[in-house]
Amino acid sequence: MLARAGLAVVVREGAEEPGGGVRSGELTLPGFVHDVCSAIHPLVAASPFFRSVPLAEHGLELVEPPAPLAHPLDDGSAVVLERSPAATAAGLGEDEPAYERLLGALVRDWEAVEEAALAPLVRVPRHPVALGRFGLSALRTADGLARSAFEGERARALLAGCAAHSMLPLERRPSAAFGLVLLALGHRVGWPFPRGGAGEIARALVAELGRLGGVVETGAPVASLAELGSPRLILCDVGPPALARLAGERLPERYARRLERYRYGPGAFKVDYALDGPIPWTAPECARAGTVHLGGTLAEIAASERAPWRGEHAERPFVLLAQHTLFDPARAPEGKHTAWAYCHVPRGSPVDMAEPIEAQIERFAPGFRERVLARHVMGPAKLEAENPNLVGGDLNGGAADLRGLLARPVARPVPYRTPVRGLYLCSAATPPGGGVHGMCGYLAARAALNDAS
Ligand SMILES: Cc1cc2nc3c(=O)[nH]c(=O)nc-3n(C[C@H](O)[C@H](O)[C@H](O)COP(=O)(O)OP(=O)(O)OC[C@H]3O[C@@H](n4cnc5c(N)ncnc54)[C@H](O)[C@@H]3O)c2cc1C
Repeated sequence: MLARAGLAVVVREGAEEPGGGVRSGELTLPGFVHDVCSAIHPLVAASPFFRSVPLAEHGLELVEPPAPLAHPLDDGSAVVLERSPAATAAGLGEDEPAYERLLGALVRDWEAVEEAALAPLVRVPRHPVALGRFGLSALRTADGLARSAFEGERARALLAGCAAHSMLPLERRPSAAFGLVLLALGHRVGWPFPRGGAGEIARALVAELGRLGGVVETGAPVASLAELGSPRLILCDVGPPALARLAGERLPERYARRLERYRYGPGAFKVDYALDGPIPWTAPECARAGTVHLGGTLAEIAASERAPWRGEHAERPFVLLAQHTLFDPARAPEGKHTAWAYCHVPRGSPVDMAEPIEAQIERFAPGFRERVLARHVMGPAKLEAENPNLVGGDLNGGAADLRGLLARPVARPVPYRTPVRGLYLCSAATPPGGGVHGMCGYLAARAALNDAS
């Protein structure tokens, strides 16, 4: 955005390679490409920012599995999120009409949903009526919505699994919004991922920045804003407490204190697998989906998501799993596969969750363990050591409850702008929050350009 506006842009990246939460690498064995952080990218497909960048010209190709998501149950079947609401509803038994009504309306109202999901909440809406309709369901708790909108376990479990991406207890608002937006994204754009690895997104963005004359300096951590001289604009892709440290006395004390008190959510514990063959799912439908949610019923998922907020570790954690190589075989040697899986844990937890994660996979795919050639494990401490933005392993850039979304990082009319002229925050700790959509940076850049003009 800044380079497009004709500014000379330098990106200072602390790590040895660009990408942050959007990287891939051979984490387990040679020839096996794993996504280090983000793996599934409906938000790239849906984002107004990404739509504005010609990433395909830089070789980015999104792969779309036949079904976005499968959610296996203990009876050996799986609920499947299909591209169409009607086909999805057909698998939900008694909740077929309710699902079609709820999601059909959201898909029709998508412009309003997109506005709510991918921009700051505090603004004059362009589609107030449709937004109001979405808000009635979205501002609820996922648990409340699932129980009132649906009667059967299948539809309730499907919504619960999607809502759990919020990392909120499902009894806390607005966990329903995350569930509804992810389901609607599945119907609007699918849940695709880049051919060759998530790092392809970063590679294409860096190529586009280069085409516009911008430069990325890697292995160049910034310890203090004083190092940067006096550029016209500084946009910081860091957490609020880190901004307070980097800016030091430049920031008014009151604002700095509020940044330091910023609230983070739970952490993540992640395991990457190199596999000898595809995952042997009991429910064959699971092999049609890029993402699989492992956690059984609404009640079980709700218990799992409550635990980290109480400082506890779920015995049967809700596991988010991606299986890219079924649809992008070049990510592994011929006939071999990868799996990417994580669960939520208390922020900063040192507990090794590899075994409970594996038990959950084994529960729905007996024989999985025998296919494992190698594992790579990352808990909160390792995630944060690799990328200081992942404070305590929180991959959403801060708690995503109502307070965390409305005052992100603090309550201000333009949340990207700091009290210091020319200094902006543009990380997932600003609206619309976590996820690979580029909208935090896009909106921060728009605010900065506006102020500078
Ligand atoms: C395990 C995991 C799984 C995820 N899965 C998904 C998913 O499937 N789909 C999805 O959409 N999202 C997913 N996410 C979330 C997504 O990756 C993040 O929300 C997103 O990357 C946040 O973007 P950001 O720009 O705020 O920060 P980041 O992407 O973290 O980028 C920040 C960059 O700033 C650099 N940096 C920080 N401090 C400094 C400094 N002082 N000096 C120089 N450089 C610095 C870091 O090295 C990093 O490169 C996942 C995240 C994790 C960790």
